[in-house]
This record gives sequence, C-alpha cells and structure tokens, in this order.
Amino acid sequence: EGESTVSITVVGASGDLAKKKIFPALFALFYEGCLPKHFTIFGYARSKMTDQELRNLISGTLTCRIDQRESCDDKIDKFLKNCFYHSGQYNSEADFKQLDAKLKVHEGGRLANRLFYLSIPPNIFIDVARCASRSSSPAKGWTRVIVEKPFGRDSESSAELTTGLKQFLSEEQIYRIDHYLGKELVENLSVLRFSNLVFEPLWSRQYIRNVQFLFSEDFGTEGRGGYFDNYGIIRDIMQNHLLQMLALFAMEPPVSLDAEDIRNEKVKVLRSMRALHLEDIVVGQYKSHVRGGVKYPGYTDDKTVPSNSITPTFAAAALFIDNARWDGVPFLMKAGKALHNRRTEIRVQFRHVPGNLYKRSFGTDLDQATNELVIRVQPDEAIYLKINNKIPGLGMRLDRSNLNLHYADRYSREIPDAYERLLLDAVEGERRLFIRSDELDAAWAIFTPLLKELELRKVAPELYPYGSRGPVGAHYLAAKYNVRWGDMNVEEKV
Ligand code: NAP
Repeated sequence: EGESTVSITVVGASGDLAKKKIFPALFALFYEGCLPKHFTIFGYARSKMTDQELRNLISGTLTCRIDQRESCDDKIDKFLKNCFYHSGQYNSEADFKQLDAKLKVHEGGRLANRLFYLSIPPNIFIDVARCASRSSSPAKGWTRVIVEKPFGRDSESSAELTTGLKQFLSEEQIYRIDHYLGKELVENLSVLRFSNLVFEPLWSRQYIRNVQFLFSEDFGTEGRGGYFDNYGIIRDIMQNHLLQMLALFAMEPPVSLDAEDIRNEKVKVLRSMRALHLEDIVVGQYKSHVRGGVKYPGYTDDKTVPSNSITPTFAAAALFIDNARWDGVPFLMKAGKALHNRRTEIRVQFRHVPGNLYKRSFGTDLDQATNELVIRVQPDEAIYLKINNKIPGLGMRLDRSNLNLHYADRYSREIPDAYERLLLDAVEGERRLFIRSDELDAAWAIFTPLLKELELRKVAPELYPYGSRGPVGAHYLAAKYNVRWGDMNVEEKV
C-alpha cells in the first residue's frame, strides 16, 4: 500500500468550477483522511502560473467544516504543499509529456495511479483524452478521466463525443459526472426504498398516483447566459439531473449495490420510457418584472443572450414508463430559473384511500386527503410524509400533518458537497454514481425528438415574470393528467 500513489490533474485549473468546487472538494477529502498517504495534485491550463500562483488562487476558497475548524490554516498549508501547476495546450501531446515527467518526479517511483478531471469546455474533451491517454498515462497503474457535462446536445452529438472518447479510453476509464448523483438525499433514495419495509411495497402504479421532480432557482442567468443559451433548461437540468433522479426512483431492485448492477437497472428503466413530444411539454422564459421598486431583468436583457432568443428557462414535462410497475403513472418534471424560490425535490403523490371512512371530514376536496411523500434534495435537506391526523379535541376533525425528518435537526454534521463524494468514488474506482455510455444514450433518446421539434418549429416560450411561480401552461399540462403540482399548494410549513 505504501508503494502506490494517486496523482490528480485538474485540467482547466484556471477556471471557475475548479476554484469553486474541485479544489475545495479535494481539500475536504485531504483533511478527512480520504486521500492516500502519497498524493499529488496538478493544475493544468493554458494560463501561465507558477505553483505558488495556483496556491494563491485556490487558497482563498478552501474552508474547513465546523468539526474540522481546529488548525484549519495548518491543514490548508499541508494540502497546498501537494499542489502544483503545469501550463500547456489542451491538444499538445508534447505538453502532456512534460506534465508526465513532472508527475513522475512527484510519484517517486511508486506505483502511479492517475485521475484527470476535465473541467474545460466540451469541444476540447477529446483532445485532452488523447493527450492524457497517449502522453501521461502510467504504464502500470490506472488512468481515469472525469468528464463534466454537457455530454453533447442530442443523441447524435452525444454519441459522437462517446465515440471520440472511446478512441483513447475504455468505458471503465470514463467517469461522466452528474453532481446530483453525489447529493446526500439522492444517494439516500435507494436506502429509503430498499431498506424500509414500509416504502417498497407501495412503490408502483398500485399505490402511487404520480411522481414529481421539481427544480427551481430564484435567480436568472445574471450575465452568464452565453453558455446556457446554447442549451436551455431541458438539456441543462431535465435530461441529466432530474432524469437521473427519476431513474433511481423508478428502477427495479438491483441484484446488488455493485456499479454495474445498479447501472443495468437504470438503463432498463430509461429504455422503458416513452420519447417526449411537443404535446408532453410546456416551455417558458422569464421576463423582467418590477417588485418593491426593484426591476428584475428578463432573460433577454442579459447582455450575453441574443435579444430574440427563444431558449427555454422553464419547462414542465409529463413522462411515462411503459413497464409493469409504472404503466399509466405520470412522472412530471418541472424546472425553471428566476422563480419564486430555490429548491429541488421529489414529490410522490399516493392514491386515494379506497372507501375512506373519513372522507366527509375533508369536504369535497379529496385531493387534500391523499398522502404525499416529499424528498427535499436542497436546500434544507428533509424527508417528510404528509398524513391525515385527528385534530386533538372532542370533535372529529382531521388535518394534514407531517411525519418529518429534517436533516438539520436530526444530524448535527455538515453534509459534504456532492463533488467530495464523487471525487472520492473516482479515486476509489467506484463507478456507481457515474453515467455509463448506454445510460446516456437512453437518456438522450427520450429527449432528442422533443428538442428537435422545439427547434424545428421555433416554439415560442410562454413568458413569466421574474420571481413568479412560472407559466400557467404548467398547470394545464398537469391537469391533463389529473395532477396538481405539489409545490403549488398553500405554503407548507415543515
Ligand atoms: P470555464 O471557466 O469557462 O473554463 C475552464 C478553463 O478552460 C478556463 O479557465 C480556460 O483555461 C479554459 N478554456 C475556456 N474556454 C476555452 C476555450 N474556448 N478553448 C480552450 N480552453 C478554454 O469553465 P468552468 O465554469 O470552470 O467549467 C468547466 C466545465 O465544467 C465546463 O465544461 C462546464 O460546462 C462544466 N460545468 C461547469 C459548472 C459550473 O458551475 N461552473 C457546472 C457544471 C458543469 P485557460 O485559458 O487557462 O486554458
């Protein structure tokens, strides 16, 4: 064990993601004792920097969790001593050869394992995969490459990217990251389902009326719309993050917790889904809005966005899984920017209680009487189940109450950032939370026909005011399937 070492090269180290997420996550793994005794971190980008300049660049963003605050500066110093920088081009095998030589010095003859994190624009993924594989892969140890989204923009471009990567890397070496899969409550989905008797037996069309996957942000693109405008909310949030949560939610029980067993089940459920078409979707775009004397900008007011852009910043979709477990159950998704709150959650609405003895206590609105399970992924992680309960007293009046697991109350520890979990898994060779090529193909197959139709017909998004609850069209879409959006009910108190 003492003879092996891990080198982690952050390609695109001068960028935003590296500074905000990757280096802080590596630092947390370091002080939690999760990195091997011998490790080296290299930043790689075109920008010219010395080792010390890289250290200065990242040191400002490193922080310790509350339980690790003691001698935090000391930990930062120790960590930074293992951080180095190499400047080079992304398509130059010669430059990666120089990186290789530097890595070797630090590895000091130990068995070398290398992880490359591609934190760069997608058009140079394949160049870097080529250079890393040809010029800086160790002869004996492993080489792994983490790839950030976007993985193409439709089935064809995604397949092209996969083919390109596979010229230089095997499937086992490719770690496609979807950081939602590193989130605590998303990991917990399978625990909830498969280790509690009370949930799994209800997990089907027999008891579940519909399932909702909701994502909202309370801010717009704010001057960073250039990247977004080319993709839109469907590609940015739905096809990846929400669909990944859906797959974990709806998959059949896997044979084991092994990566391939889980990914096999995810592919199966994705391949059972119907492709989306225009009638299954509502698109929206936020417009400027004045509230309390403050003017909030519309999407097209963003200087980095073309003024005639029809890119959706909001979408609602109804999806269906054509298998025995989920036949006819609507899986609804809703995702939007510049809405009234920031939240990601899964809502499971159960069927009515047949022959409910107490239905009169609810008046005419039977919807009020159904159970709902809410899994709040962020912020304020929580799991709560809405149940009907008797209001204490002599009369027989019922209300809805929550059986509530609020993480901040139950667990005193801070929840690690998703990137920590995912980086640790990549170092350990655990591929369970990364997206396999066939999974990605299946995910694109659901969305590509719709994305093509939207573009071909230049579908105009329904405008909604910045800070609102989104376009009215979303209600009509849900109503078509007899569904009410769970997050539209009177403000819930948890
Ligand atoms: P970024 O800052 O735009 O780019 C990272 C680095 O890549 C830059 O510092 C730059 O380094 C190099 N680069 C930028 N544009 C380039 C170009 N046209 N040709 C060659 N090199 C270029 O990106 P980021 O925000 O850090 O994100 C990195 C990757 O993660 C991107 O693929 C992005 O889509 C993805 N991602 C980002 C976030 C986020 O929160 N930022 C979230 C999810 C996914 P040099 O000029 O020094 O070479």
